[in-house]
Amino acid sequence: MLDAFQTAADHGVNTTAPGYLAYFSAGGLFSSALAELLAQTYNRFTCVADLAPALVAMEHGVLHWFCERFGLPPGSIGLTTTGGSMATLTALISARHDRLGDQIAAGTLYVTEHTHFCVDKAARIVGLPVQQVRVVPTEGLLMDPDAARAMIRADRARGLRPFLLVGTAGATSTGTIDPLADLAELAREEGLWFHVDAAYGGGFQLTARGRARLSGIENADSIVVDPHKSLFLQYGTGILLVRDAAALGAAHRGGGHYTQDGAVVHGLHDYGYLGPELTREFRGLRLWLPLHLHGVGAFRDALDEKLNLAEAAYQRLTADQLFEVPWKPDLTVVAVRLRGDDQLNHHLLERINASGRIFLPAPASKTASSCGSTR
Ligand SMILES: *Cc1c(COP(=O)(O)O)cnc(C)c1O
Repeated sequence: MLDAFQTAADHGVNTTAPGYLAYFSAGGLFSSALAELLAQTYNRFTCVADLAPALVAMEHGVLHWFCERFGLPPGSIGLTTTGGSMATLTALISARHDRLGDQIAAGTLYVTEHTHFCVDKAARIVGLPVQQVRVVPTEGLLMDPDAARAMIRADRARGLRPFLLVGTAGATSTGTIDPLADLAELAREEGLWFHVDAAYGGGFQLTARGRARLSGIENADSIVVDPHKSLFLQYGTGILLVRDAAALGAAHRGGGHYTQDGAVVHGLHDYGYLGPELTREFRGLRLWLPLHLHGVGAFRDALDEKLNLAEAAYQRLTADQLFEVPWKPDLTVVAVRLRGDDQLNHHLLERINASGRIFLPAPASKTASSCGSTR
């Protein structure tokens, strides 16, 4: 059976290999896998605090630490999810409930063409028509706050109900960071919930450079961070941080005749009543153990190294006349193309990916056929 597993695992792309440079992958720390083994072996029910208060306190503690790192005030709360998409859906449900109540039909939200498609998907899941996801023009890849303000006001004048502004801290295709402080200000003035998608960029908050670049994120109403991207943890680890714990709770209230009074035990919330999921695995340990075992400094140093590598790649590529480098990376996404036509660029990409040593992001239709082993 181990042989069968090994054969199956070897068939495809090794996303933890050093040559894997496509998309955001996580190494998958062994210490986190060990935490997972412990958590799953004990299999305690951590969805209601009363049944495993000390374990829930461990998850609560690590999430509280994330809230503090992002500058959220007391009264904020964290929730572990399976990833950025689920965290985004949970944020969108909270924003809609908090700002629109049951009057959801005319709700509008504001994104840019670089916003991750999980926002669009979440809007569809909660029943908002696609034309109510408003795409704000960008200036130099970033959301233009003046254009957003004009759209919000025009929509309101037409009888629509603007309720959510989405900023991105590290866009998936460009790596760029929207002007978070300006967008937070705009959202406050216009009474919108301000959500920041830091699924990829959030980890860099642990570094001095990242913190400076993500400045303004502390004014968000909700933040999505994916430890399975920039914190090197296993796939299936996302985090939602919400400024107002009560807003998250109110949007996901529930209970049956068989449930206990949802009282707060020892200041701990019942995670089963803070998101779409009731029963869920004890996700906290896979964050708690690696952060305590290796220390936060180890994560910070590794992320600083990645920022240095991106900077070095940018310097080397800009110095080479063969290449065009359209913008300086905000974080670690380096965009580059050969001077010449698209066909030349596709050809280069194919040759690089066919090597099996380096894997770069390819157009969707090419990905499957060109996936080298990258072992
Ligand atoms: C990857 C990503 C998401 C989606 O997160 P998943 O964990 O894949 O569900 C959302 N936003 C951004 C910016 C991302 O890079």
